[in-house]
Amino acid sequence: MSFLSLSHLEKTFGTNRVVKDFNLSVEKGEFISLLGPSGCGKTTVLRMVAGFETPTSGGIVIDGQEVTGLKPNQRNIGMMFQAYALFPNMTVAENVAFGLKVKGVAKDKRDARVEEMLRLIGLPEMGGRYPFQLSGGQQQRVALARALAPSPRVLLLDEPLSALDAKVRVSLRNEIREIQRELGITTIFVTHDQEEALSMSDRVVVMNGGIAEQVGAPFEVYNRPSTRFVATFVGTLNVFDGAVTGPQSVTLAGVPVTLAEPVEASKGATVALALRPEAVQLGRVEGADVVLPATIESVEFLGSIIRVRARAGGSVVALDTFNRMDAPPPAIGAETEVSLHAR
Ligand code: ATP
Repeated sequence: MSFLSLSHLEKTFGTNRVVKDFNLSVEKGEFISLLGPSGCGKTTVLRMVAGFETPTSGGIVIDGQEVTGLKPNQRNIGMMFQAYALFPNMTVAENVAFGLKVKGVAKDKRDARVEEMLRLIGLPEMGGRYPFQLSGGQQQRVALARALAPSPRVLLLDEPLSALDAKVRVSLRNEIREIQRELGITTIFVTHDQEEALSMSDRVVVMNGGIAEQVGAPFEVYNRPSTRFVATFVGTLNVFDGAVTGPQSVTLAGVPVTLAEPVEASKGATVALALRPEAVQLGRVEGADVVLPATIESVEFLGSIIRVRARAGGSVVALDTFNRMDAPPPAIGAETEVSLHAR
């Protein structure tokens, strides 16, 4: 029996079915991300777990207890939102103590717990400050401490990093994950950022139009997407149409290639062939399955990596090259070749 289980969850607003037959089993201590584009229903799933929305149908069980009909404050769940959710008129310590006070925890116990939480988030000296005296990243750490202080059974995080600048985001990502591991708290994290989901999670749920399209470990979801949507949303930028020519062979940009695994489509069928940027190389590479003439369309210098888009074989392919001091990035408009690896 899993620690948290969502079964056949549905949510309809008016005539709009925003969550459709959503099923998920989460193990104790697992970190799960709900990943998907804006409007796909991620927040609605999270709000149903928290008790802020009532499911139209389906059930939610936490630690063996049916909670579907319970109010949010009866569920013992901690929640952290996008930035600016702290009480502005309370100090950091009062913010962190809030949930404990509501629960009726005595002052001395409360104070000890606040101190412990502020140490956990690396802000032991900041209890007397007000939110406006903290940076965005510090405010979010306090919000995390506030959510964790009452020792919730489950931690729900709704895009908690999206309002922060890039550097703070990456460091806070690691910090949240470390704290989550240390406490062993079962966590559901909502994000539309694939890098965030892949880097932080034990498993990722890729959502599209209210449906969980794929659930799996980051490595699995990235390397073996089960649908075209998952392939493009979780990082693949290159999709070619191909034709099946045999049990394990297709045409890719008109060239016959043998795949690493059998295709689940009959001969003559048209299939989508998804190639990761790392399966495409600039120039003519020995051992490649397909080499196509290409024109460079755009070049993004990102430091250690250079992301190139080139027109080839009737589509635009994206590829990454590593920066090298002796090889400047290609020029836009340059005529070259790209090598594709199907395996
Ligand atoms: P975002 O990342 O933009 O928050 P999301 O994937 O979290 O997107 P939801 O917030 O769950 O998506 O919304 C899913 C759909 O449900 C949207 O079309 C939204 O407009 C609709 N919706 C959400 N809450 C309500 C509500 N209270 N009343 C009516 N429609 C709603």
